Amino acid sequence: MSLVTSVRMLFKRVTLSDIRTIRNIRFYSDQPSESADDQQNSIDPLKDRTKSVPVETSIRYLQSKAYKQTYGDNPVWFLYRRNHRGGVAPKHTRRSCVRNGVISTGNPCPICRDEYLVLEPRNTKLLEQFISEYTGHILDAFKTGLCQKKHKELLLAIEKAWDQGYLTYDVPFREYDYSLYNKNIN
Ligand SMILES: [Zn+2]
Repeated sequence: MSLVTSVRMLFKRVTLSDIRTIRNIRFYSDQPSESADDQQNSIDPLKDRTKSVPVETSIRYLQSKAYKQTYGDNPVWFLYRRNHRGGVAPKHTRRSCVRNGVISTGNPCPICRDEYLVLEPRNTKLLEQFISEYTGHILDAFKTGLCQKKHKELLLAIEKAWDQGYLTYDVPFREYDYSLYNKNIN
């Protein structure tokens, strides 16, 4: 009995292999895998961030009609909404939107999604949008939605702009209480 079953199994195997060769059926494992060069060439140009845009181009872009049409009079982060799981947003934004020079997320932050927005001290029209008009402080990443990498670049650019005089900031008026320095004076 066992001999009969083994012969049957052998017969099935032979016929199946014959069918495969005769009909020339291509299985998934038979397909040649794409080479590394093909994968590099197939990068979406809209997601490519390997090219660096000069600051002068960015400054001209912020004064152009295209910018006005895209953002209007709002700051660049105004209409941006973060995608996140659940109803409550996580405390920190994502670390970076770009990996190996390519955007790795479907919901990149306001700076990463537009390659012509360059965070540099001279680009004051862009940096001003991230400073609160009421307090003069730099807005939090939780509000603007910038990824951690770009938020650090923003802090650096604004500090440099203040230091080099591209941006001015108001020092709050303070009445000195001289009793703090000398207790004999009231
Ligand atoms: Zn980003």
